[in-house]
Amino acid sequence: MKITMAHGSGGRATSQLINDVFKNANSNPVLDMMEDAAVVAGSGRIAVTTDSFVITPLFFKGGDIGRLAVCGTVNDLLMRGAIPKYITSAYIIEEGADTDDLRRIAESMAETAREAGVIVVAGDTKVTEGSGNVYINTTGVGFVPEDTDIKSSDCKLGDALIVSGDLGEHHAAIMSRRMGIENNIKSDCAPLGEMVMNMIDAGIELHAMRDITRGGLGTVLNELASASGCGFELNEADIPVTPEVEGFARILGLNIMHMGNEGKLAAVVAERDAERALGIIKNSRYGAAAAIIGRVTGGEGVVMNTRLGGKRVITELFGEGLPRIC
Ligand code: MG
Repeated sequence: MKITMAHGSGGRATSQLINDVFKNANSNPVLDMMEDAAVVAGSGRIAVTTDSFVITPLFFKGGDIGRLAVCGTVNDLLMRGAIPKYITSAYIIEEGADTDDLRRIAESMAETAREAGVIVVAGDTKVTEGSGNVYINTTGVGFVPEDTDIKSSDCKLGDALIVSGDLGEHHAAIMSRRMGIENNIKSDCAPLGEMVMNMIDAGIELHAMRDITRGGLGTVLNELASASGCGFELNEADIPVTPEVEGFARILGLNIMHMGNEGKLAAVVAERDAERALGIIKNSRYGAAAAIIGRVTGGEGVVMNTRLGGKRVITELFGEGLPRIC
């Protein structure tokens, strides 16, 4: 069935849409009350984040907009050391969207929420004129353990820089799909709770953490460097990237350092904990290809020692990059 403006009326068509598509997928005691606001348990330091997802296409190798809408928000909570608990999901649906697609998206969102350990406690649907696009906004709430304080301004001289796996996969997968290029590259879209919680439980001295999304690792590291008033030195040879993504980037003239992921993080860790943290990430889900790729320096900006023995300054991404990647 196609969505029409009647599905946005607030009347019977709206409640049918909600019941048929969204409520079944996300049923839980809080949401099922269908009240104007969810009342949930919680105390202490609360982390809150919000993100909107406008990716095109809605379905791609390795994921879809529903999985992405959970992962993006949950991962942002995790980067502050928060344990994700609750999520909201607001859909803006254009006239002409297909209800089967919406059902697939809602089910994928529910499955990813289960994997990430969050429950969907509030939701909204709106219908607008348009051409069948779907947009999702998610807000996430998490709880920060008592003695955890991870922030971008805490990188310290000598800290190790770890990335949790191969760079550029989400970017390359979306671009391949849009350009009709056949390959085996899949989006890495994934919730990173297991590796983060394993590090926190093991008492790793985590100074800063960021998920590597739009703008790529180059942008993330420049942001960390300016927040902490430090520099980074990286070794190109240590940066994990699959041969297929590397080849794809070379052919299209893309810089791996500016390609987005959706299931990778950069962690800045006290040097004495670096090897232990690396081992924990490697043994956690989605972390098998993790590597220590550099360290924090007293300089400014981000400098990479290239494979050929030179040095290259890595800037943040300028310009638009790849539009509608998340
Ligand atoms: Mg982030």
